[in-house]
Amino acid sequence: MRATTIHAAGDIRLSEVPDPTIQLPTDAVVKVVAGCICGSDLWPYRGENPIDAGATIGHECVGIVEEVGGDVTSFKAGDFVVVPFCHSDNTCPHCAVGMHSVCDNLAMTSSGQAEYARVTQAEGSLVKTDGTPDAAMIPSLLALTDVMATGWHAAVAARVREGGTAVIVGDGAVGLCGVLAASVMGAEKVVLMSRHEPRQVIGREFGATHVVAERGEEGTALVKEITGGVGADAVLECVGTDSSMGTAFAVARPGSTVGFVGVPHGVELPVRRMFQKNVGLAGGMAPVRAYLPELLDLVTSGRIDPGRVFDSVLPLDDVAEGYRAMDERRAIKVLLQP
Ligand SMILES: [Zn+2]
Ligand SMILES: [Zn+2]
Repeated sequence: MRATTIHAAGDIRLSEVPDPTIQLPTDAVVKVVAGCICGSDLWPYRGENPIDAGATIGHECVGIVEEVGGDVTSFKAGDFVVVPFCHSDNTCPHCAVGMHSVCDNLAMTSSGQAEYARVTQAEGSLVKTDGTPDAAMIPSLLALTDVMATGWHAAVAARVREGGTAVIVGDGAVGLCGVLAASVMGAEKVVLMSRHEPRQVIGREFGATHVVAERGEEGTALVKEITGGVGADAVLECVGTDSSMGTAFAVARPGSTVGFVGVPHGVELPVRRMFQKNVGLAGGMAPVRAYLPELLDLVTSGRIDPGRVFDSVLPLDDVAEGYRAMDERRAIKVLLQP
């Protein structure tokens, strides 16, 4: 099959690789209808994560079941499925409390930017749609495989509450989905910290009541002002850098929680401030499967349209250009069509 492979920092290629096959009775193989590039794919692309030269890359896709293993009974060839980026059995003690991203049988989609993807633990991981969805709904279903569920997780971890204030640090696809999540959960003031006009537009569509373009102390002061001088009831940290984490704690009100979902790179926590202000930190890798039934309902009922984060659609052949566009921030998120 044709699949995206990474060979070195900045070196993304479309290569011919062996088709994925059923290796265990719990597997399924899915024919990818749409895949996409994730902000976290940019870490290896920028040389900030180790690279296994020639490995396939891409962990987000939706598609049609091609084949299932003998233990998979709820899905059959032809079903349209949402594939969570992290696969889980949905039966172990961690899945039982909604922590599917820490499953005893955890694995990840490894060829989401390709023609086919292998799903381990298919029975516990996949969620199917009611029939084949309209083409117009596919971007939003694709967003559920990671970014929307991850933004949702940030809001859950930060304990966003009805009538409260929420600040979102980060205007990538996850941050924008965090805005949408906080808005759906009923926050009265939803503040997006963003300097980029096209992202601000989507943020407002997703329910941001305020946009703060300033950074550093100036940005913190503005958030304080918007939140009545006390700081935010809930803060969603959706980047993963030391500076974004610093901003998150600076705008959090005493007694609140920062929900963090950006993969941390070089972050040092302000433990003294956390102690003095009684500000907590919660979150981590999103248990996508735990949220999928609820999020799928929100998408199919038309209440949310997280697919708006895709501002670029490219054929799979142009995947290298997709990476360049996201790296240079010319695109928020790129959808790939095999
Ligand atoms: Zn992702
Ligand atoms: Zn599990």
